[in-house]
Order: sequence, then C-alpha cells, then structure tokens
Amino acid sequence: MDWVGRHLDYDGEETWLVEAHGPPDDPTPPCRPVCKHCYAAQLPPDAEDTLKAIHPLSLYPNDLVNHPRLEEVLRRAREIVSTREPLPLKVITSLKFSDEKTVETMARYVDQIDVHVMSTDPKVRASLTNEDIRAAEKALEAVSRVPDVADPVANLVVVPGYNDGHVMNTLSDLDDMGFRKCVVIPVGVTDYNPFGIRPPTGRELETLRATVRRADEELDMSVVPCDSLRDPMEVADEENLDEITSELALVIEEHDVEVGLVTGEAFGPVIEALADAVNASCERGRVEAIVVENRYFGGNISCAGLLTGRDVLNEVRGRRLDVLVLPEISVETGTFIDGVSPLELAVVCDCEVTTASRLSEVPMRVEEALEGPQRVPESVL
Ligand code: SF4
Repeated sequence: MDWVGRHLDYDGEETWLVEAHGPPDDPTPPCRPVCKHCYAAQLPPDAEDTLKAIHPLSLYPNDLVNHPRLEEVLRRAREIVSTREPLPLKVITSLKFSDEKTVETMARYVDQIDVHVMSTDPKVRASLTNEDIRAAEKALEAVSRVPDVADPVANLVVVPGYNDGHVMNTLSDLDDMGFRKCVVIPVGVTDYNPFGIRPPTGRELETLRATVRRADEELDMSVVPCDSLRDPMEVADEENLDEITSELALVIEEHDVEVGLVTGEAFGPVIEALADAVNASCERGRVEAIVVENRYFGGNISCAGLLTGRDVLNEVRGRRLDVLVLPEISVETGTFIDGVSPLELAVVCDCEVTTASRLSEVPMRVEEALEGPQRVPESVL
C-alpha cells in the first residue's frame, strides 16, 4: 500500500502527501479523544466489511503527529519521494497535543505543513477537538510556528453551532500569522455522527460562500472553497456548458443513443441542466441525468467520490441505456469504494461504461465508447 501518495488540493496544487495512518508496517495509533467532526468517527457500523476498496487503516481516526516514531516515519517518507517527480512533500495534521518542537521536527523532512485548524480561539477549537483548553492553547502556539519553518497552509472545517460564527476571525488570524492558503470546508455529516453535529443549511452555506469570497479579496492569504462549498452552477460556467452541450448533442444525434450521466447530489443541478439542454437540441437520442443519493452514508454526503457502487446500481438498474458515464473520481482506485467495478455496471445495464474526470471530457468519452471496444478506465488496468 502506497502511504506517500500524490495529493491534489482544491485549487489544483499537487504535492506528495504522507498519509495520516503512516506506514502499514508501523501505523499511527488512533487519536484519543476523537474530534466531534471527525469523518472516521461517523462511519456506518459495517464500514470495515463494506468499504473494500479503502485500506482498513484509513477507517479509524489517526493523525501522524501521534506517531511515536514521527521522525523516523518522515525520514522514510522523504526517502520514498526522493526518486519520484519533484513535488513538495506534505503532511496534513491537526497538531492535537503537539507543541512547537513537533512542528520543527516535521519541518526537517517535509516542505509543507497543512494544519487542520478548527479555530484560532482555544475554547472554540477545544469544543470540537475535545482537547482541554491548555492543550488547545499549546496546539495553537504550534500552529503559529508553522509559517516560520515550512510552507504554511491550513484547512478549516466549518461546523454549525461551533465555529461558524468565527470564520472571518480565524481566517484573519491565520493571515496575520503568515499562512499562504486556507481551504474552507463545510463539515460532512453522515447518519452515524455520535456527537449530534448537524450539516449546514442552504442559507448557512450561502453565508459561508460570501465570507470565503470576502476573505479571499481582503486578505493576503488565498482563501479557497472546497468543491462542496462551490456553487455548482458557477463550476458549470467555468466548464463552458454551452460548448459541451453542442458537442454532446452532435455525438448523440449521430449515433441515436441513450446516454446516462451519473453524479452525486452535489453536482446534480449541473448534470440536470446539461441533460435538459442537450435533449432540447436533439431530435434523436437522449441524455439522462442519473443523480445518485448517497444512501450508504446518508446525511449531507453528496460528492461523487464517496458514492458506493451499490447505490449507483440501485439507481441504474432497469434503465435502457447505450452508454453510462461515471465520474472518474468515483472509481479512481479501479472500483467504487465498496468494491463494485464499472464492469459490473456494464453487465447489469447491458451497455458501454466509461468515465470522465471533467464535464468537458464527456462528449469525447461517449464517442470513444460507441466507436471502439469498451473503454476500461485506466485506473482498472
Ligand atoms: S485529529 Fe483528525 S483524525 Fe484525529 S480525531 Fe481529529 S479529525 Fe479525526
């Protein structure tokens, strides 16, 4: 298992990331206590059996700073990337129960430290991390040391009722400390959160989007919304929906086919708009927007990357399709996270299955699937 992998940030920046669980032969011990917003504390009870494509080490809460041999692990990580494409080496950490010395140790081996910060107010931070106030203060002192020793980036998970009233203050404080970038992420909440955390409402998301825009304009630091915070129609505008509509309509008319476009609920409005526009301009053939609700995790989990094959199968079974297009991110390990493969979907739907990593690729992928033998996604090979 590759525990130092390529990482693509929301603004397109690429790095090598040391996975929080560390090397499989010497893994990081679990976090204690867990944070209220932690993804790994809110997995369905059958996750270890069901999420076959995810390494079991990723299914418990861990942060590399808890590793008793942190320095040795980071030295190994540095050696691993020394023969690879030259990209910065990065660690993502909450710095929970850490101090300035931990930061200095990390900076000897990694180029970038990405701090999972929650708040710059120790009381607000502790209300989410379950640290005591003194530990939260010490961790925040460690946070402020990061810009002195490494490329300083941060991420801020916004949790309604906890830190959502402090977002601008937190971003301003990070800017004053010298951070280069902060990604803002609305909390993901499944049906299994044990701490009563709730997802943001539509109105709260609007307010957060406006705060992120303002902070990005006013601060020196770059403030980046994660994909789930971006307005899907704004993303569609950047993708040039009109051009994609014309290209896809041409392919569909020429071959007179039914094409299904699978997506999660977050990107659903964009795919529905694309399907309506294509169908309005086609006399033959059709596009179906197949917006899949994430029943496995429930809550506000709506991104394509966390769709299970079983949820997708339930949605596509019985449809008459010639081509099914999956988001590449849903099957980037070769299968969906529950181990269901694209080929299983091809059998169930009796159609060609292909993938696209961007909307603009869809017309070409559909054309390739219709003209050649079935395209197996590269990640499967
Ligand atoms: S530090 Fe990270 S991995 Fe650990 S409990 Fe908190 S959110 Fe989860």
